[in-house]
Amino acid sequence: MNTTIGKTNILLIYTGGTIGMVKDYATGNLKAFDFDKLQSNIPELYQLDCAIETISFDCPIDSSNMDPGHWANIASIIEGRYEDHDGFVVLHGSDTMSYSASALSFMLEHLSKPVIFTGSQLPIGDLRTDAKENLITSIQIAASQERGRPIIREVCVYFEYKLYRANRTTKINAEHFEAFQSLNYPPLAESGVHLKIYKENLLPKGRSKSLRVHKVMDNRVGVLKLFPGITEAFFKNVLQCDGLRALIMETYGAGNAPTYDWFTKSLKEALQKGLILVNVTQCSGGSVLLGQYETSQHLKKLQIINGKDITTEAAVTKLMYMLGQDVSMASFKTIFETSIRGEME
Ligand code: ASP
Repeated sequence: MNTTIGKTNILLIYTGGTIGMVKDYATGNLKAFDFDKLQSNIPELYQLDCAIETISFDCPIDSSNMDPGHWANIASIIEGRYEDHDGFVVLHGSDTMSYSASALSFMLEHLSKPVIFTGSQLPIGDLRTDAKENLITSIQIAASQERGRPIIREVCVYFEYKLYRANRTTKINAEHFEAFQSLNYPPLAESGVHLKIYKENLLPKGRSKSLRVHKVMDNRVGVLKLFPGITEAFFKNVLQCDGLRALIMETYGAGNAPTYDWFTKSLKEALQKGLILVNVTQCSGGSVLLGQYETSQHLKKLQIINGKDITTEAAVTKLMYMLGQDVSMASFKTIFETSIRGEME
């Protein structure tokens, strides 16, 4: 459906999430509802100086049910309408938004238009909702142009007055309106009386190449958060999990891990069997600094991939993307340790 005919064409993609939910009074649970009702709840949309077309998942979902198939669906929608639209806004539940938005950042290669993910902590119909500001400003950001060209040419998350690079975000709060943070990269824009875009933080404009969409994501990956007292049996079981191709190990502080013999030996055996291992820190900010402490020397010697300052969300989706691309074992470490969409230092 089109609202106003203006200079820019924006596609609004509704996938589900709190933003479009209503309370089921029988059970007291929040559940997804019809997208048309979302628009009737925000008559302000009709005042924006751009044409807004909307498309909805047939069955909007709580983002806990998102999977790589849904990401491919979002990517296909964008691919199919890429030429006819200047920007895209994806309405998505906040719970797994950082995963989906990171995934899309890898799937959409040579992106030259904005793709803004947003959602809300309170449903759109709630009196105190944060949905209206998030949605309206996301549309304005997606429509921002300079000399007829989009200013932002990457996948972002907009939430509570801040625009972040998608693959740098993490959901850090289940109840504050400020639900997301990007601890290792500054915001790309801030909304106050004026909308300030920090151009110096945006991905540099590359050579103009056509959009390439990669929809194969290999999900044979895992995440293991280390904890004091982890047992040998549990650790080995995870490393030997059937079919597992890559494991992200969330280590302590600057990438540190136990130095017990069984721990190092298990890692060595797993690597010999072809498992890809990635070291990311379980801290929300900061970076893996291999060799800073003695407790990371063994990981360095084993040539475990250094995740540097990547988020777990970006590491999971980068792995799925790279495995889906059949990147060779010989270059896997080098490519993973190189920033391909601004996801790491
Ligand atoms: N459970 C919801 C979801 O992620 C929460 C939200 O939308 O913020 O779909």
